[in-house]
Amino acid sequence: MRILVTGGAGYVGSHCVRHLSQYGHEVTVYDNLVHGHRGAVADGLPFIQGDLADRDMLTRIFASNDFDAVMHFAAYAYVGESVHEPLKYYQNNLANTVTLLDTMRVAGVKRLVFSSTCATYGEPAKVPITEDTMQRPINPYGRSKLAVEWMLRDCAAAWGLGACALRYFNACGAADDGSIGEDHKPETHLIPIILQVALGQRAQVTVFGTDYDTADGTCVRDYIHVEDLASAHRLAIEQIKAGEFSACNVGTGQGHSVREIIDVAREITGRPIAAAEGARRAGDPPVLVADPTRVRTTLGWEATHADIRTIVGSAWRWHEAHPQGYNDR
Ligand code: UDP
Repeated sequence: MRILVTGGAGYVGSHCVRHLSQYGHEVTVYDNLVHGHRGAVADGLPFIQGDLADRDMLTRIFASNDFDAVMHFAAYAYVGESVHEPLKYYQNNLANTVTLLDTMRVAGVKRLVFSSTCATYGEPAKVPITEDTMQRPINPYGRSKLAVEWMLRDCAAAWGLGACALRYFNACGAADDGSIGEDHKPETHLIPIILQVALGQRAQVTVFGTDYDTADGTCVRDYIHVEDLASAHRLAIEQIKAGEFSACNVGTGQGHSVREIIDVAREITGRPIAAAEGARRAGDPPVLVADPTRVRTTLGWEATHADIRTIVGSAWRWHEAHPQGYNDR
């Protein structure tokens, strides 16, 4: 399949690009490099530096390439920033997706896999979370992603778009061969922060809240390896049906607490990793764990990197070999 990947130089996007290429798909990357890294995309692959807001460029690209499908990752993804600058998120994540969908419609491209998130569920009443759980996001980031899901459903009904929204849980880990990995600036995610402490780049990790109603008082999350996310995207794009909108959670179904992750990282790295207890972070639900039944049964997906030691070990190999990440800014 010929696939345009928006945000293909970002963390999850770049791993999907690599995976799709390995499975014989012809991939073109479209990324504005605001948060993405040129070094995350292999040299031989077609790369276009462009912005989703650029309707003319998207129109030209669709006119001059015979794409079968689009994988749409390009978005801002800092929850805290979205609270302070909501319009930045509604513009890039929502309004620019209107532009993408409209240029797809005009060009007759009718398959799309969308990078959605468990943040669309907000604070779910019960876990594990199935796709039928009420989606009540609690921040502008989650709302901007949910609004795109609504648009996709409407476009499926109106002009035959086939779309699949993959609602990821906590993406982590790095490519099996160590060639690409996670590099956010600023970094806010737990596993990279812990590993930066292990590398001596930070003095300590602060545990955000130790008084949650969980086994050890810290938040529980479903950590999903980026290689497993990549295979879910490939299976989704290969199986999309015209005129249908579907959504799948992508997680392992296993939850791990913040303390557990720190302990595993101490074991894997062999380094002490100082941790301090801090206040709760606003908007953090106590437990977010996927029920992955649907992605297994409808897409035939299975996690192959679900073990938490495998996940943290994979992230550690990348961070140890690339202490400055891609070192491009
Ligand atoms: N967390 C933490 N200290 C940090 C960063 C994160 O205790 O410095 C916690 C956070 O409260 C959450 C979990 O680790 O419970 C995962 O957070 P992350 O930001 O990696 O992903 P999120 O769950 O917000 O998507």
